[in-house]
Amino acid sequence: DEELGVNSRSAPSGTSLAERARRVIPGGVNSGQRSIPGLTDLVITRASGSRFWDADGREYTDYHAAFGPPLLGHNDPDVNAAVAAVGQRLDLCGVAVTDGEVELAETLAGLIPSIDKVLLTSTGSEATFHALRVSRAATGRRLVVKFQGCYHGWHDSVSLNVISAPDRVGVPDPISTGILPEVLDATLVLRFNDVAAVRAAFAEHGADIAAVIVEPVPHNVGCLLPDQEFLAALRDECTRAGSVLIFDEVITGFRHDLGGWQRISGITPDLTTLGKAIANGYPIGALGGRADLMDLFSTHPGAPAFFAGTYNGHPAVVAAALATLTKLRDEPVHEHVYRLGDRVRAGLTEVFADLGVDAVVTGYGSVFVSYFMSGPVPRTYDDLLRNDAGMFIGYRRRLPEHGIFELPLNLKRSHISYAHTDADVDRLLEATRAAVADTLA
Ligand code: PLP
Repeated sequence: DEELGVNSRSAPSGTSLAERARRVIPGGVNSGQRSIPGLTDLVITRASGSRFWDADGREYTDYHAAFGPPLLGHNDPDVNAAVAAVGQRLDLCGVAVTDGEVELAETLAGLIPSIDKVLLTSTGSEATFHALRVSRAATGRRLVVKFQGCYHGWHDSVSLNVISAPDRVGVPDPISTGILPEVLDATLVLRFNDVAAVRAAFAEHGADIAAVIVEPVPHNVGCLLPDQEFLAALRDECTRAGSVLIFDEVITGFRHDLGGWQRISGITPDLTTLGKAIANGYPIGALGGRADLMDLFSTHPGAPAFFAGTYNGHPAVVAAALATLTKLRDEPVHEHVYRLGDRVRAGLTEVFADLGVDAVVTGYGSVFVSYFMSGPVPRTYDDLLRNDAGMFIGYRRRLPEHGIFELPLNLKRSHISYAHTDADVDRLLEATRAAVADTLA
């Protein structure tokens, strides 16, 4: 043991994996959003298709889907085969470019309307970070506009006003300590779907706004569907003021449409950030857009906006992305998940009505969420303040008893994959009925 470096701090045998995790991993998990009250002993050891299994062999039909990447389902065999195949001939070299990166860039440029040129990162946060950096580099301006309820990753400029308490809406509400106040001061937070607020912000600060960054559908608070006039107003004001419009399509890209929300809405941003569903769970992000902006990155020697990353364009991840996008294009993935999504939303609406529970079931395509409030369908974050968080979290905590997993955190959306079946939907509806009834009892 000593030779292996195992020292006296290691766990005694028989200690659960979760307890061992808490000894050596702060909080026992590797992301702040994975630490769930009531689920601290959950250890996952296997995932396949629409399911995962815990260390005790219990099976869960998974509607959390890792916050969204596995649109094809867990451990997709075609994606895994592509990763294994590239591993036979190539791994990370970190110089020049590889064949797969060229093919993937051409594919992304062909699919996403705003993309002339594209760079790969390992995460969505890196993509949004560089989108803001290059916007400031291009404009020489300071301010960034974001919207209450949108999440764009963990970096300082956007780490504010995601899920805010009622008294923190409309004021700077950082999600972390340790951020310089002058960084927070450089981000203006506006209400989503509020055209007047956008017009007013540009009237007052337009000459100082480097970029507007927006989730075209704010899925980090479940689902707020955008008014077409709102997205059109963002496009219009950015064009007039010379500000960069960034669509953060890390969730909406590929999940809702191969061309992203920009193809659905017909509104084309200057830059687009992507991640999650591109590679079905392998770590990837992408930043693409207008050639004149993308050409400011230091991938051109001497260009001003520094861009780097040891793992960018990793061959295994690129192979996963190419296999994922091929399958999304060649198989009826969207048709399947849209149909099941409609079934889930209609079925849940019926379940809540039967039980006499005030609920608004909404979402889009493969994404669904049930808010516990009376209608109409919410359009702004303020509307979501009416959601009964106790019910939202309470019944989801009971779903695992019925073999279903939806993340028991307030306002989190759920996802359907190509691997989910009609029988999975039946089980979800039955389980929800039972879990909600128990919560009410
Ligand atoms: N943008 C959006 C819309 C997201 O939902 C997320 C992650 O949830 C990110 C950016 C950050 O991506 P990542 O977690 O890969 O850094």
